[in-house]
Amino acid sequence: MTALDATHDPALQSWVESANAPGADFTIQNLPYGRFRRVGTEEPLRMGVAIGDQVLDLRLARELSPWGEGIDALLAPLAEGDLIAFMDLGPRAWKAVRAALSHALAAGSDQGPFLESCLLPRAGAAMALPCTVGEYTDFYSGLHHASAVGRLFRPDQPLLPNYKWVPVGYHGRASSVVVSGTPVQRPLGQIRPSDAAPPELAASRRLDFELELGALVAGGNALGEAVPMAKAEDRVFGLVLLNDWSARDIQAWEYQPLGPFLSKNFGTSLSPWVVTLDALAPFRRPFVRPAGDPQPLPYLDSPANRAAGAFDIGLGAWLQTAAMRQARQAPQRLMHSNAADAYWTLGQLVTHHTVGGCNLRSGDLLGTGTLSGPAPGQGGSLLELSEGGRKAITLAGGEQRLFLEDGDTVVLRGVCQRAGARRIGFGSCHGTVLAARAPA
Ligand code: MN
Repeated sequence: MTALDATHDPALQSWVESANAPGADFTIQNLPYGRFRRVGTEEPLRMGVAIGDQVLDLRLARELSPWGEGIDALLAPLAEGDLIAFMDLGPRAWKAVRAALSHALAAGSDQGPFLESCLLPRAGAAMALPCTVGEYTDFYSGLHHASAVGRLFRPDQPLLPNYKWVPVGYHGRASSVVVSGTPVQRPLGQIRPSDAAPPELAASRRLDFELELGALVAGGNALGEAVPMAKAEDRVFGLVLLNDWSARDIQAWEYQPLGPFLSKNFGTSLSPWVVTLDALAPFRRPFVRPAGDPQPLPYLDSPANRAAGAFDIGLGAWLQTAAMRQARQAPQRLMHSNAADAYWTLGQLVTHHTVGGCNLRSGDLLGTGTLSGPAPGQGGSLLELSEGGRKAITLAGGEQRLFLEDGDTVVLRGVCQRAGARRIGFGSCHGTVLAARAPA
């Protein structure tokens, strides 16, 4: 658990004026990392830090500003565009670089004059994934999502007996993880039109989103070696927003007995800016289980996890249809929730993933599972919001939705704000649905 330090001081302002605006996501207290190239070029990808509406180009920043020897060496992998090598340096290096960047970007910094020419407007940066994603595991730690979806399929037993004991997950597909802004093509798959009919190959008619957080794994553990709770958070560099696009009709037919397959392997979208665990330090919350629920088994328990294992991150999903876009109507908010409602913490996900000896590697991605809120209308998927495709959602322009139509854009956002801390945000994760290709 990261302690608060000078980089979290809510009074800290930046010489990059746009970072000081009241609603800014990328304040000087945030300093998220992203990988980009200048729009319209094919130049090699480089790492940057978002500050207000600008990106600090870390290759130029290392070259043009004095940093001191220790920091200069730590900046080298970032200057080379290699986030994985930087993540491999570990938490002490991450903190040292964060402190140096905070100092350099603070109002009145003597590095300001050197760094001004290292800024690029964010609008001029074409974002890529922050690093090559190694392997991808998606969990199911949203209790309210698991309960709501369970109620649709098993009204008498919404939660399966394992749910409160084991962090349920499945191994996903890294090759189809894409950065925000990449269109997502509606998948084809086997769909059974009714219980009486045989399945057919068809385009999904029940295409959905899932609002999740993604954790970027840092460092490695040897095969056969577990990561205990006390070390688990050292293995998480930071978080992004994650949309686990899901084809419910394909899923319903294929998922038994081994879980989701084609219903989820056609696309997973990530927001481009990695908000570090260090930046999230002011927004930690105790991990508590409701009275009467089983406590986690000892290997999933630790004093630090109980004290502050959860994250207070406000989340939301918005929808903009093609007609809304044409009429210049802004995306409409569908729901909001908070990551603190998750049933399992990030530390528990890392520890559970490795307790059998699985080796996690730098660049692996862990999805939290859909993060729905407790109230009706707080579902983090259309499956929940439309009550299983039975109750249409009416949009401001009069259009209705049970599931996503071609041309729909889904936007996810995440923001941390509380009294006594400066607001930080995740930016957005958005993607537009493209029509399916014709079945063969
Ligand atoms: Mn999911």
